[in-house]
Amino acid sequence: MNIHEYQAKELLAKFGVGVPAGYPAMSADEAVAAAQKLPGPLYVVKAQIHAGGRGKGKFSELPADAKGGVRLANSIDDVRADAQDMLGNTLVTVQTGEEGKQVNRLYVTDGVDIEKEYYLSMLVDRATSRIAMIVSTEGGMDIEEVAHHTPEKIATIDIDPATGFMPHHGRAVAHALKLDGKLAKSAAKLAKQLYEAFTTLDCAMLEINPLVETKDGELLVLDTKMSFDGNSLYRHPDVESMRDETEEDPAEVEAGKHDLAYIKLDGNIGCMVNGAGLAMATMDIIKLNGAFPANFLDVGGGATTEKVTAAFKIILSDPAVEGILVNIFGGIMKCDIIADGIVAAAKEVNLSVPLVVRLEGTNVQKGKDILANSGLPIIPADDLGDAARKIVAEVKEAA
Ligand code: GDP
Ligand code: MG
Repeated sequence: MNIHEYQAKELLAKFGVGVPAGYPAMSADEAVAAAQKLPGPLYVVKAQIHAGGRGKGKFSELPADAKGGVRLANSIDDVRADAQDMLGNTLVTVQTGEEGKQVNRLYVTDGVDIEKEYYLSMLVDRATSRIAMIVSTEGGMDIEEVAHHTPEKIATIDIDPATGFMPHHGRAVAHALKLDGKLAKSAAKLAKQLYEAFTTLDCAMLEINPLVETKDGELLVLDTKMSFDGNSLYRHPDVESMRDETEEDPAEVEAGKHDLAYIKLDGNIGCMVNGAGLAMATMDIIKLNGAFPANFLDVGGGATTEKVTAAFKIILSDPAVEGILVNIFGGIMKCDIIADGIVAAAKEVNLSVPLVVRLEGTNVQKGKDILANSGLPIIPADDLGDAARKIVAEVKEAA
């Protein structure tokens, strides 16, 4: 799960991390009220969307030479004008895709006098089973570019969760950022605070770009992106309450409500499968047969008719879906129950695309009979290979 920049900064501040003062705003009036609480004379008005590259982004509704989604404002009047310019409009950045994202929230912050910009990010490195802190002197710019052209300017410091953050990790961060004296101490302290925040909050990723050295010799987090391990959210109701569903794929939000693991993909064959491993295998075999899955969908072990119906509706809400492959292994679940669910769901949603069903396991014959006698044009399949060949052929034929 992702959160907005202002929310991430609120969380980090609780760990002692230095961030510029600022307030979120949902309207131009609120933006002005926010600015009035800040010292000025420089303010920053920042679009809050779950995507980076806002500064260089463009608003679809504004002239091409209009400013982007991060604007320096020199007066309260400018803050109002910038807020009016941004709210409700669509910001397109390198990370949003061409369709962009509508700006519904702003963050008005105290403008910082920047001496130098740095980069720092953290993630869980599965290869080393450690937390990687990735730092670079080249902040403020596209880190992928830095990694491509000057990889030597990026340093990775691994932190073993068994020992936790040690003083030498802090010194390594300061060294990699080429800092000394008071700034080196600040960097080491900051790195420790960030590690604390990252592990306490069960983050999956934390990126600070830029981390800035101010003209007054302070280190401040100027921009941050934070994402969390969804499996840990039950431990962090305060974090979960920061969820902004308007930023997420509506089908994925709907799937979450029914406890379905759904991820939208780019293909045209919708998949409904029980078990993540079987879902992966189903996607593989569709590809092997020359087509692409429209989604990953694991209905889980205890799927009910309601769950299967919800899954059908979610799959069909994707206009790219031209056929559906249901692949169910009845282990804990019985095939006849699943077949009932499929028939009820297919009738309810008025199935408009070919449907191939492969059932295997407990009560398989009963399940197949239910499908055959349903009066619905369900195409039965005997095994995974047969199922994939059939749905790919059906979709190709219809095209
Ligand atoms: P992003 O474009 O989405 O990554 O948004 P950022 O928050 O990183 O802002 C983009 C750039 O705007 C930063 O790299 C800074 O150069 C500039 N910027 C943001 N806030 C301030 C500020 O308080 N003072 C100054 N001088 N520049 C800022
Ligand atoms: Mg940034």
